Amino acid sequence: MTIRYVSTRGGGAPCSFQEALFAGLAPDGGLYVPARWPRFARDDLAALQGEPYQEVATRVLAPFVEGDLSEGELRELIGRAYAGFDHVAIAPLRQLGANDWLLELFHGPTLAFKDIALQLLGLLFEHFLARGERAITIVGATSGDTGSAAIEACAGRARMAIVILHPHGRISEVQRRQMTTVAAQNVHNVAIEGTFDDCQALLKAMFADTGFRNRLRLAAINSINWGRIMAQAAYYVAAALALGGPWRRVAFAVPTGNFGDVYAGYVAHKIGLPIAQLIVATNRNDILARFFASGVYRAGEVAPTMSPSMDIQVASNFERLLYDLCGGDGAEVARLLAGFAARKSLEVSAEALGQARELFDAARVDEAETASTMAEVLAATGKLVDPHTAVGIRAGRACRLDRRDPLITLATAHPAKFPDAVHQATGMRPALPTRLADLYERPERCSVLPNDLGAVQRHIQDLVMEIA
Ligand SMILES: *Cc1c(COP(=O)(O)O)cnc(C)c1O
Repeated sequence: MTIRYVSTRGGGAPCSFQEALFAGLAPDGGLYVPARWPRFARDDLAALQGEPYQEVATRVLAPFVEGDLSEGELRELIGRAYAGFDHVAIAPLRQLGANDWLLELFHGPTLAFKDIALQLLGLLFEHFLARGERAITIVGATSGDTGSAAIEACAGRARMAIVILHPHGRISEVQRRQMTTVAAQNVHNVAIEGTFDDCQALLKAMFADTGFRNRLRLAAINSINWGRIMAQAAYYVAAALALGGPWRRVAFAVPTGNFGDVYAGYVAHKIGLPIAQLIVATNRNDILARFFASGVYRAGEVAPTMSPSMDIQVASNFERLLYDLCGGDGAEVARLLAGFAARKSLEVSAEALGQARELFDAARVDEAETASTMAEVLAATGKLVDPHTAVGIRAGRACRLDRRDPLITLATAHPAKFPDAVHQATGMRPALPTRLADLYERPERCSVLPNDLGAVQRHIQDLVMEIA
């Protein structure tokens, strides 16, 4: 039976996968979740052992898209999504220590795990748009990794333009060049004279302007999109199967910001993968670590760290877990979030917290610990890891319950994306992989605009009219 998607806040009618993909956010402001979960029996999972990553992903995702895509169409899109990865295993495992593993998710075009979901998302958009729908304009704001992964996913694809806002002069040179050197005609970079928060405020205002939103058919590609979560569940399954699952439980340690990646691990658990622990690793922006300790979810001030993709105090995808902790009661989720919007704090019951802690553990890792972990891993294994991955490794070691369960830490970025932090911690400067070796020679394309909604909207409108 086809899976429908419902809002975490209980409003609106259930919709199809395709509708959830294009809408991003539900009309009542909630996030889409499946109305029911597909279940894989242990034997079904075991049958996937030894299959290539692409085949595991096809079988795991198929029930979520049924009705909109046949398994054959999905297999074809997944094959194309990962054809450009620079490792045949797509998400290879490396051994760090006895029963201690790294899952390398950075072999895509922009060197961060976001490529795994976004490469597929770009193709899904293109596939559905080819059925005769009007062209879309994808608009996003980035403080670093998301923008380049989204641009690489959409560059050169038919019937879509992509516009990414970034704060002028406030992202690293590698990050900026990864976006501004993409030559495709449908890619537009806008540097805003302001902060990342200003960029996000502009984005929100553009989506709230219904006339503008409909005229340009705006679409969002940020981590609240169900399509991204779904695509990430596949690597949890593939990694567990490689280490003896489903006949053996494994634990995952996940560097966490918006709670999207670790929630995808929860999805793998919901569909039947035996998971011993999901360890939420945060840097000193630790709202989630505090929640799993106390049941109170209270936003603090964002503090900059060397793992900037996790510098988040409000984790959008947390709402999806909250929905389950409230027993699927959307009205209760809406009530809790209204309280959070007013007081920057919400609290769940002791039972709900207990339920969450059956699977989740969490730890906060500070800057000194992050740096010393990078140095320790280098000394013990000869490997450089990026600061986000180091936070994951450290939290995994702190929270691990049973050494017999393999511990898999998600390596979310290549160390060359954060060369200064890696150099400071280890004395070694990671080299850019071959595919990006000439990044500093490629010409850049970018417009600089004031932090002004009218100016940004006129600019985007002109760009899109040119294409149409
Ligand atoms: C985005 C990102 C994260 C955080 O992932 P969430 O899904 O937001 O929790 C961690 N590490 C890196 C390198 C990232 O780019």
